[in-house]
Amino acid sequence: MVRQDETGPAAGVHVPPGADADLLPGGSLPGSWTARWAARPAWPQLRDVDGRWLSSLELEERSRRVAARLRGAGLAPGDRVVVSAAASAALVVAHVGALRAGLVVVPVNAAYTRTEVAALAADACPRAAVVDDPERGRWLGEDVVVVDPAVDLPDGPEDGLDAAGPDDAAVLIYTSGTTGRPKGAPLTHANLLAGAAAVGLAWRWAPEDRLLLTLPLFHVHGLGVGLHGTLTAGASAVLRPGFDAADVAARAGDATLFFGVPAIYQRLVASGHAPALRGLRLCVSGSAPLPPSLAAAVAAATGEVPLERYGMTETMMLTSNPYAGERRPGTVGLPLPGVDVRLAGDGEIQVRGPNVIAGYWRRPDADADAFTADGWFRTGDLGEHDDAGYLRIAGRSKDLIITGGFNVHPREVEEALLTHPSVREVAVVGRPSEAWGEEVTAVVVAEGAPAAEALRAHAAERLAPYKVPKRVEFADALPRNALGKVLRHELR
Ligand code: AMP
Repeated sequence: MVRQDETGPAAGVHVPPGADADLLPGGSLPGSWTARWAARPAWPQLRDVDGRWLSSLELEERSRRVAARLRGAGLAPGDRVVVSAAASAALVVAHVGALRAGLVVVPVNAAYTRTEVAALAADACPRAAVVDDPERGRWLGEDVVVVDPAVDLPDGPEDGLDAAGPDDAAVLIYTSGTTGRPKGAPLTHANLLAGAAAVGLAWRWAPEDRLLLTLPLFHVHGLGVGLHGTLTAGASAVLRPGFDAADVAARAGDATLFFGVPAIYQRLVASGHAPALRGLRLCVSGSAPLPPSLAAAVAAATGEVPLERYGMTETMMLTSNPYAGERRPGTVGLPLPGVDVRLAGDGEIQVRGPNVIAGYWRRPDADADAFTADGWFRTGDLGEHDDAGYLRIAGRSKDLIITGGFNVHPREVEEALLTHPSVREVAVVGRPSEAWGEEVTAVVVAEGAPAAEALRAHAAERLAPYKVPKRVEFADALPRNALGKVLRHELR
């Protein structure tokens, strides 16, 4: 257990005086949540996309049945189950049920193509899949038990549920490797609880809070912060199938919290709907840099500076601007409770804490790159501290593109384009874009004269829509350094 006095000097800013700063409440996600449900069974926990409310008791009973069914189907603790469907209460019940059975949930973007899904399956070796399109389940292989989010299987034994320990893996989330091969981040119950509990403290997340949750549940932002944060705080969430500015404006009056990526705030401002967020207790931004001009536009519309935080899949949330103290646009604030942050000689942000994974899934090669000899995780982001110790993200030491809050590894897009017969060489970069933060752009050295649209279509057959280059440009040669390495920064 990490108590306030052990969490480092900066954590003081995030922990309300007198609060219980336990970062491992209940010892596991189900341990924490079942205690909340038992204390307040009638609590309105989740509002489904059709408007119906699910109480804590219903979530407990339904997730218990799902857990028992998955056990009855022969799944054992530690087995992986792919979960890939649009957000709904049934999807949440399936996710929670899988965790209660001790399974490891592998959240997969429902927009992934067959190639992308097959690559994950080859690595994660799932034994079951919860999908809203059975065709997608079949892509995973012959022996995989495929069910829809209702998990319509025969009832199974209810004994031995909720038995996972803090160091057992709960969720395996993939971050495509820079070599194009997917890298799985196994987040343990302790990692996820520490992450949810830390933002719970820092953002004063209380049972009375109601989160308007429009983020996808296959990413750590929507799943680890939005959903798990809600359940760990014993609060409520209004689930939406996706982000739509008018929809947010129509429902914000019913909420106290809203989480978005900068592209979401950009669309709320551009559409004129941002003032609808005025009555909320807190708006949080993360997953990509929030330009100070956009923070100012949101503040002008809502009366509050949005609270910017920083985190990543492998680490959950790392730093946050303070809820009660000064919010500094252009910075990501101070380390969250339990998190240690240091800057290496070259400015790289390195971190450690109960929220950080111990290593990648079956990738000792990646671990050797990602962890320092003394055990700190290398984020690949570059940072600096301002005069008040607030962290500013100064860039990325890796080539990652962040478009609309989604991460795109250039190498993966390049490999997809190189399978086209007319593409001789290609470099993919992120170009600054007002709407997307960065726009995936491919610079192609072509054989013959392929049309840009044909190359985009070729990429779209192999990659999820957000990875497909928004622009394709042609060049006679790619700029390279003396060692032949492509100079991506010259193309940005
Ligand atoms: P992901 O693993 O998808 O959550 O992406 C993590 C990466 O997103 C980090 O390594 C950062 O490069 C970036 N990121 C997340 N939050 C912020 C932020 N507030 N400002 C700048 N970059 C961010």
